[in-house]
Amino acid sequence: MTHIAIIGAGITGVTTAYELVKQGFNVTVFEKNLYPAMETSFANGGQLSACNAEVWNQKSTIAKGLKWMSQKDAPLLLNPSFNLHKYKWLMSFLNNIKHYENNTIATVRLALDARQHMFRIADEEGFDFNLEKKGILHFYHNEYEFEVAKKVNQLLQKGGLERYAVSPDEIKAIEPALTGQYYAGFYTPEDATGDIHKFTRGLAAACEKYGVKFCLGANVLHIQPHQDRVEIHYQQQAAEQQQDFDGVVICGGVNSYHLGEQLGDKIHIYPVKGYSITVNLNDENSVKNAPWVSLLDESAKIVTSRLGKDRFRVAGTAEFNGYNKDIRHDRIQPLVDWVNKNFDIATDNVISWAGLRPMMPDMMPRVQRSRQARVFYNTGHGHLGFTLSAATAVLIRHEIQTVLAAA
Ligand SMILES: Cc1cc2nc3c(=O)[nH]c(=O)nc-3n(C[C@H](O)[C@H](O)[C@H](O)COP(=O)(O)OP(=O)(O)OC[C@H]3O[C@@H](n4cnc5c(N)ncnc54)[C@H](O)[C@@H]3O)c2cc1C
Repeated sequence: MTHIAIIGAGITGVTTAYELVKQGFNVTVFEKNLYPAMETSFANGGQLSACNAEVWNQKSTIAKGLKWMSQKDAPLLLNPSFNLHKYKWLMSFLNNIKHYENNTIATVRLALDARQHMFRIADEEGFDFNLEKKGILHFYHNEYEFEVAKKVNQLLQKGGLERYAVSPDEIKAIEPALTGQYYAGFYTPEDATGDIHKFTRGLAAACEKYGVKFCLGANVLHIQPHQDRVEIHYQQQAAEQQQDFDGVVICGGVNSYHLGEQLGDKIHIYPVKGYSITVNLNDENSVKNAPWVSLLDESAKIVTSRLGKDRFRVAGTAEFNGYNKDIRHDRIQPLVDWVNKNFDIATDNVISWAGLRPMMPDMMPRVQRSRQARVFYNTGHGHLGFTLSAATAVLIRHEIQTVLAAA
């Protein structure tokens, strides 16, 4: 049986493992943490959001980044200090402005495909991950924002998304928990939310049931490809070890950049930091007044999801500031303030988190073979890893089958 190694047990690695084992492969997943889903797939915004498929490659994104440079609570922060990796990434981001329309449409299509796979997996495996199929509501605070959103909506519709404009009254009817004033919105009824950590852990358990081996606490140090096999060198419990495989898929999140460098592949991922808070809803009033419909506030760049009766997740901000994952109070406070402004719920019990989005400069995931024999990538899903992974896992499985059948 063909034996594939996967590096990384985040959402991309575990969906890849699931897809491969279900198609008859023998699979081993290497993860440096002691459990799956401990890095970026830990506490994200929770949205399965085809409606958020717009890529960010616009001049206006750069203009906002420059404008907000000195504002500590801005949704987008760019640390201007020189770093070659960051500046090369930014140049490439600018070069991809010309692909804005095509890449947005391609991302919607991928997200719609992923939605079907995700719902099929949820039905077949039956584990709980707080899946809510209540749609996603974008709202806007002024006419200008809404006019821009109408143009984006045309692209999303070109990609096949069902999404329609709603008035302020309709916004309140769709989500009565909202207490603010809003200019207008767009509603995507078929989008959904869930807990990425619970999903990845639940799917990892399903994978084990089908025979996938998880090699946890195992840091992959080196990949040595050959024509007939790939050697994986890793460190586990202070001992260096090696195993041979027929192929390897790199699903290493922000570290895919370094693994790619080792292999001579340019996987130009930059870590784009974001924050979330999980508001524990501990009293009856908060349980009643927290929203169930997932929200996206365009100007604050904040997304929400209700994770069961007693948790409300709020996420946002994009920081271009290297690999540190420190939780900064001045970045968390705007999320708490936003909750207090828009809802009548208590924020006295809030868990803060920060994670690094593995972002490509064109915002498109890399689902491809390497320059090296028997090495593949399924990585670089940026702000949409939960939304897209179920589809990219199928794409990389096809690629592996094609390449290895010809080898
Ligand atoms: C604040 C925030 C909000 C977000 N909200 C959403 C949202 O609402 N919807 C959405 O779709 N997406 C969202 N995202 C994006 C999404 O969370 C990510 O795209 C996704 O989690 C990335 O998954 P991954 O598997 O690529 O990376 P990770 O989850 O980071 O997994 C990679 C794994 O590889 C392991 N690894 C790396 N190198 C090695 C090595 N050498 N040896 C062994 N193991 C290794 C790491 O330890 C890690 O566990 C959000 C992200 C953030 C930060």
